Amino acid sequence: LKASNSLFFHSLQAKMSRPVQARRLEGVDKNIWVEFVKLAATYSKVNLGQGFPDFPAPDFLREALMRALSGGDHMLHQYTRAFGHPPLVKVLAQFFEKLLGRDLDPMTNVMVTVGAYQALFCCFQALVDEGDEVIIIEPFFDCYEPMVKMAGGTPVFVPLRPNPPKDGKLMSSADWQLDPAELASKFSERTKAIVLNSPNNPLGKVFSRGELGLIAELCVKHDVLCISDEVYEWLVYDGKQHIRIASLQGMWERTVIIGSAGKTFSATGWKVGWVVGPDRLLQHLRTVHQNSVYHCATIAQEAVAQGFQRELMLYGKPESYFVQLPKELQQKRDWLVQSLDGVGMKPIIPEGTYFLVADISPFKSDVPDVPNSDEPYDSRFAKWMVKNKGLAAIPLSAFYSEAHKNNYTNFIRFCFAKEEATLKAASDILQKWKQEKTSS
Ligand code: PMP
Repeated sequence: LKASNSLFFHSLQAKMSRPVQARRLEGVDKNIWVEFVKLAATYSKVNLGQGFPDFPAPDFLREALMRALSGGDHMLHQYTRAFGHPPLVKVLAQFFEKLLGRDLDPMTNVMVTVGAYQALFCCFQALVDEGDEVIIIEPFFDCYEPMVKMAGGTPVFVPLRPNPPKDGKLMSSADWQLDPAELASKFSERTKAIVLNSPNNPLGKVFSRGELGLIAELCVKHDVLCISDEVYEWLVYDGKQHIRIASLQGMWERTVIIGSAGKTFSATGWKVGWVVGPDRLLQHLRTVHQNSVYHCATIAQEAVAQGFQRELMLYGKPESYFVQLPKELQQKRDWLVQSLDGVGMKPIIPEGTYFLVADISPFKSDVPDVPNSDEPYDSRFAKWMVKNKGLAAIPLSAFYSEAHKNNYTNFIRFCFAKEEATLKAASDILQKWKQEKTSS
């Protein structure tokens, strides 16, 4: 009996020793967010790390959710149409018809997803094959790289290069630019798609018409698709305009626009996102969506639909949330810019988004460098700062590919979509730190 038992366990062990991890996960299983979200939860007194507002979502949106929840239509608790709750795809089509100046079919040109995150996942799974190259502009929202790899594609990186102003003024996100020749050199017959994120996380850069024109020209010339992540489309400051690349010549047919109700209505936890684009692309995204999540919570879609109906009525008017929110965020941005500049942590003024990147150089002496460390300096700095000062931010290197992580290690990203009291508390921490430095 003993012998047969040990044989049994031996064969069980042999079975269990086979690799359990699918090959497509190799090299994509590390994620800095897990570590930084945990560090912020453990140590931070003030969290300007992850990108979410700590102020409430607008009343009209919360009321719409309440009505959906307790109103007469009990069917809102059941499944809805897989590719998007009809009222939501209809109003999104109406809204984007206005923005893009073209007719849209709500059933084929719009799909609702579980946040912009799942919209991105659908794009890469549906459009990228083994061996395809996908161009990603650095710095980038970090999930693009693993998502391309999981689809079997190869990410090809092209950097935004900083050109500091000569007059000693603060840098702006507009001073980070693509080198046209370098960008052109990344396109080849292997290129399937480019990922564009304007306004850009983490820099807050809003790509100009000229820059978008350059990208569009290359996409058309090389027959390349454009995955256009526009989740911060309404968060643009100083009267700048967000230009949709899909509206440029030759681009509609090759572009998928991605949006997020989380960013649009300050409700990131709702996880309602969407894609807008031509049926020839969206039909394949529908296949991925249908065979993965099937659909996103009906009740949240119903409330977001009502939010958009309100915004459609108030379009361009001062009461519109899409007019008010950027105004409020611009003030918050200016406030954080001033307080960072005041302590010498030079900010790069963002033209859009929730985010601001700042130069930590004057504070480096407090956090010793470790020569030949694998970890970029800004990452160690951000960890030290949250543990010792209680202030959470994200290192800029987290938004670069492995090969380029050490190119920019003197910057951290702050989220300013926060209550005034939160920003004030952050400023107090920085000022106290600065005073300690000058008195020591
Ligand atoms: N794209 C970018 C550029 C983002 O910053 C984020 C959220 N941080 C997303 C997509 C994901 O959006 P959602 O929360 O709607 O999934």
